[in-house]
Amino acid sequence: MSNASHSDASSDDQMILEAIEKWLERDVRPHVLRLDHADEYPSEMVEQMKELGLFGATIPAEYGGLGLSATTYAKIVEKVAATWMSLGGIINSHLIMSACVVRVGTEEQKQRFLPRFATGELRGGLALTEPDAGTDLQAIRTRAVRDGDHYVVNGAKTWITNGIEGSCFALLVKTDPDADPRHKGMSMLIAEKGEGFNVSRKLEKLGYKGIDSAEISFDNYRVPVANLIGGEEGRGMQTALGGLELGRINIAARGCGLAGAALMDSVKYAQERKTFGKPIGQHQAIQLKLGEMATRLQAARLLTYDAARAYDSGERCDMEAGMAKYFASEAAVENSLEAMRIHGAYGYSKEYHIERYYRDAPLMCIGEGTNEIQRIIIAKQMMERNPA
Ligand SMILES: Cc1cc2nc3c(=O)[nH]c(=O)nc-3n(C[C@H](O)[C@H](O)[C@H](O)COP(=O)(O)OP(=O)(O)OC[C@H]3O[C@@H](n4cnc5c(N)ncnc54)[C@H](O)[C@@H]3O)c2cc1C
Repeated sequence: MSNASHSDASSDDQMILEAIEKWLERDVRPHVLRLDHADEYPSEMVEQMKELGLFGATIPAEYGGLGLSATTYAKIVEKVAATWMSLGGIINSHLIMSACVVRVGTEEQKQRFLPRFATGELRGGLALTEPDAGTDLQAIRTRAVRDGDHYVVNGAKTWITNGIEGSCFALLVKTDPDADPRHKGMSMLIAEKGEGFNVSRKLEKLGYKGIDSAEISFDNYRVPVANLIGGEEGRGMQTALGGLELGRINIAARGCGLAGAALMDSVKYAQERKTFGKPIGQHQAIQLKLGEMATRLQAARLLTYDAARAYDSGERCDMEAGMAKYFASEAAVENSLEAMRIHGAYGYSKEYHIERYYRDAPLMCIGEGTNEIQRIIIAKQMMERNPA
């Protein structure tokens, strides 16, 4: 139960999974407590992630990536998150940006950007959210106005993962603010940092330490028209939502990673810590918790792999990804709290990992579409797929 099964991965995928497992144990785990508490960016690990090919995990091999399926990718993310959830964010946002180009980009854009994304030479993420527009993305105000063969961009984005350390972003803008419906006036640009692209400040957070979340702003920032993803205005919203399907599978896998880490730390501790003359794992109250935590994890994993399978087969999978994201993130929150109870005071101590799981888990309920919105997507899909 400690790890996601490898048995159905191809032998190449299995080798990659094993290499990542070794790297996590050797080069990541020993440094997590220090880096997380210092909120320090893991520059050395990012270089190692480049060497492992992780920045190209889901980019097709013909463009220099590993070309992994969403299923194998989910297994990697689960392992990474079980060790340090923050590292998952460094590749997730980057691969959503890449997925926008893979799915919607022109052939010229694929050739120009994907090989550089795959090596990590260009790294970045997704810039959708604004100070006054998160869930209601159609309310964004960042404006791109055509000026010859460039767009001139003005506006501000917030909570942008990799905003400080990254160099390139899939940037959602309004190209026609008067369009009706609103989404027809939205477009997505590939925005490399340059003059007029400003990082305003680093945002301080409860958890998800080490990785940068930033406010960015655009002041007459010029982007070549050739960087309009798909080459056609008005497709930005669909491009973002398509990318978020992979993003939600990633969040689900991160939820599994955290829920699993909280469980396995608890299983170990329950056999070591004694009260009233026996290990606490011999008390039924603790057994009930472990039983619920393990069942939650298994259900979250099955939902996550089902969503990844649907994504890999090219099926529409917003409902499956939504279910997995919703359930696995809630499992991470519940398992981290139960792990804290099982560990007693030691769960509250900064010398153990439990308090970090507890701080990291709630983000999964917010990012890539809140869990309120996931349930609304699921309900709408249920009705659409089952008309009365
Ligand atoms: C650490 C971190 C990293 C992030 N990284 C990125 C990133 O890289 N790129 C990016 O673009 N964004 C990023 N975000 C932003 C994130 O995607 C948004 O926070 C999220 O989409 C929610 O938007 P909001 O915070 O504005 O909440 P709001 O949209 O203001 O929602 C507030 C509350 O109202 C609920 N709500 C809203 N509308 C409805 C409705 N119609 N029905 C029912 N309930 C509703 C929401 O579920 C929520 O509970 C990040 C956020 C965090 C915290």
